[in-house]
Amino acid sequence: MKIYSAANPPQAHIVCELLRSHNIACEVRGEGIFGLQGEIPFGEASEPHVWLLDENSIAEATLLIKQFEQPHSEASWSCPQCGEINEGQFAICWQCGESMVEA
Ligand SMILES: [Zn+2]
Repeated sequence: MKIYSAANPPQAHIVCELLRSHNIACEVRGEGIFGLQGEIPFGEASEPHVWLLDENSIAEATLLIKQFEQPHSEASWSCPQCGEINEGQFAICWQCGESMVEA
């Protein structure tokens, strides 16, 4: 089943590799016709996407993609001002008050 629609082929590969690194079988589909975008109507069929081969992993795959799309909500970050490591849900350093730098 299609688990993720990417804006471009590299993005699809990044997500696919992310899932594979967690032993979830998947592959990138749709990128072969990406170059023809100017000639065919852009839409679902012409988008590069990640195809989930192991449907038993759908819950884990969905969670990983969610984290990929919202990295700051889960990942910790280090403060550019004082170097303190902060939890992902905090947008401001608890140590010195510096704002999180957008990636
Ligand atoms: Zn700080």
